[in-house]
Amino acid sequence: MAKKEFEREKLLTAQETEEDQILNISLRPSKLEDFIGQKTLAENLKVSIQAAKKRGEPVEHTLLSGPPGLGKTSLAHIVANEMGSKITATSGPAIGKAGDLIGILTNLADGDILFIDEIHRLSKTVEEFIYPAMENFEIDFVIDKGPYAKTIKFNLKRFTLIGATTRSGLLTAPLRSRFGIFHHLDFYEVADLVKIITRSAKLLNIPIDKNAAEEIGRRSRGSPRVANRLLRRVRDWVEVKRDGKITLEATEEALKNHGIDKMGLDAVDRKVITVMHESFGGGPVGIESIAATLNEETDTIVDVVEPFLLKIGLLKRTPRGRELTHQAYEHMGFSKARPQETQKEMF
Ligand code: ADP
Repeated sequence: MAKKEFEREKLLTAQETEEDQILNISLRPSKLEDFIGQKTLAENLKVSIQAAKKRGEPVEHTLLSGPPGLGKTSLAHIVANEMGSKITATSGPAIGKAGDLIGILTNLADGDILFIDEIHRLSKTVEEFIYPAMENFEIDFVIDKGPYAKTIKFNLKRFTLIGATTRSGLLTAPLRSRFGIFHHLDFYEVADLVKIITRSAKLLNIPIDKNAAEEIGRRSRGSPRVANRLLRRVRDWVEVKRDGKITLEATEEALKNHGIDKMGLDAVDRKVITVMHESFGGGPVGIESIAATLNEETDTIVDVVEPFLLKIGLLKRTPRGRELTHQAYEHMGFSKARPQETQKEMF
């Protein structure tokens, strides 16, 4: 695949890119009052923080779930900031051995936050070390082997574990039960995305029209990360092709050029829908078959593509697999008859 095409395809990915990591430092909200949307969640979190502060205790272990790019990492940093504590951030796949985890845990001070992204991907052995750490703030070392084996308890400081997961369903029951607070992040309303885009444009010093911010918001598939990324692409476009001001017309032109349609679907979304239509007669079809046909990771489709297509009603889940809805046929301009049926009639 040509590089340009590849980059275009990745424009809507909700995964963090290097550019995000550099630029989000300034765009990431650091206080709860800067965190836009997710009202109930933000309010409940505020209460947890204030209550913990009042009691002079750390916040309870918290599990944040929801699709990528909706603000889980930001919230972990916000909790640390509001509590005036230090945050150590890592991820499930990054903690390879129990020893790595022990190193991290023993370095935590009272009230520190340990943020583990993709916590559902922790290995079994590492996970077992985490149970006593979360529950009693201690870890058990086993030294020596056989008849001389001895277990030594090591006391940890009272820390808060904040876990983030795109799939809370994959968390084991023992791990889940050790969290005291659960929050689910849902896709953002367009009005909230517009606020986020307007705030980011201000921080990046880009003039933007209200209706242009709304257009970007509508095409951001409910995700602040995507909203910020589209804003930067439109900014590039107006700086090179126009006078640097983001208008509705320039936004439409730039997003069209990047292959992002009116509903916010990108090339990958459309490929998934097209494959379902052309190769599987609109479904029902298993997600693995779709991924295999597209030569894509199943995880990318499950985490990034599918949740949004379900949310906007282009896809539905049935006991026998995923199925395209008539809205998907309409949006893509497919004929109502499924290709397989058409074939039957033809021969
Ligand atoms: P996740 O951890 O869920 O993948 P992040 O916390 O990394 O998501 O969010 C991605 C980016 O989106 C952040 O860096 C920030 O710029 C922006 N963002 C997320 N949520 C909000 C919000 N509620 N208000 C403003 N910006 C947000």
